[in-house]
Amino acid sequence: MGPIEKLAAKGVSRRDFVKLCAATTAAFGLSKVFVPQVVEAAETAVKKPAVIWLEGQDCAGCSESLLATLKPDAATLVLDVISLRYHETIMAGAGEHAEEARRKTMEEGGYVLVVEGSIPLADDRFCKIGGKSFREMLLETAKNAAAIVAVGACATYGGIPKAGPTNAAGVLDVIKDKPVINLPMCPGKPSQLVATLLYFITFKRAPELDKYGRPKVFYSNLLHDNCPRRGHFENGQFLTDWNDPSQKEWCLLMKGCKGPKTYTDCAQVWWNDGANFCINAGSPCSGCAQPEFYADFNPLYTKTEMFNLPGLGQMNVDSLGKAIGGLAAAGVAVHLAGKLITGNGSEKDSKGVGK
Ligand code: SF4
Repeated sequence: MGPIEKLAAKGVSRRDFVKLCAATTAAFGLSKVFVPQVVEAAETAVKKPAVIWLEGQDCAGCSESLLATLKPDAATLVLDVISLRYHETIMAGAGEHAEEARRKTMEEGGYVLVVEGSIPLADDRFCKIGGKSFREMLLETAKNAAAIVAVGACATYGGIPKAGPTNAAGVLDVIKDKPVINLPMCPGKPSQLVATLLYFITFKRAPELDKYGRPKVFYSNLLHDNCPRRGHFENGQFLTDWNDPSQKEWCLLMKGCKGPKTYTDCAQVWWNDGANFCINAGSPCSGCAQPEFYADFNPLYTKTEMFNLPGLGQMNVDSLGKAIGGLAAAGVAVHLAGKLITGNGSEKDSKGVGK
């Protein structure tokens, strides 16, 4: 039974599958003429690409995120279109049998290595699996991999563990001799992983990457430029009180929103099969797509940046409000500062202003 028949048996129609392939093709900025090629590559893959999924320091949220996707069911797709040989959280095998599956796959070569979680570099005793440190395991598994994909904030740039004592690192800090495709966010976004895998299956190469190793197609646009609350930012309307219904839709900058520093497709491609995304649900962007997340961005929900305003010098939001008399005025001044910090959306702005 081919991958498409298997998907059909699980309730995913060929129409849904073709739609997914078309979305992938569009996401990567390819012409519609490539849709049949993507469909054919996935349909006729005589030998499904083998995947080894390693998990280091993390909360397993990236696996959860992928497995919770609905239709087309990403888990079904990933399990049936590819051959998932090793995944510590969901595989049935354990112990020596599981390690044997990984060893065999490594001997065959040509597999895709997906990494979730950061690598603790402080001490090889942290995160030991099958008697090996996670760092050793990663180096060993990366050797014969045809492609390496780091999924989620932890695997890409260290994520939340980077703020802790384990000297947590991303895959690119350890794998120096091979390209790594970084798909950050916390958790990793299933639509991006599925699209990247389909792209690899079809074209046998990685998509074009930015300077942080992220596919440009997903990470070229500043969230702030596509935000549904941007009009309120322009009007100087900043939410300061969660309990005030009149502020419900206002800009979340004063609540620590990192949208002006974050490059992501969140505003265009919503989460959970298009159900919603953070800002639309009332939560400030935490900047999880950026290398600065989490260690350099916390506290996440407090505006801490200093603004350098003409005639006023360096000041934070509070002193700015007092200096120009009242919160409404502060909003207008922050709006001005916001314009200064967001600039024209060039990549230089992703570092934003200092704390
Ligand atoms: Fe949207 Fe945040 Fe920018 Fe406000 S600061 S417009 S909430 S991205």
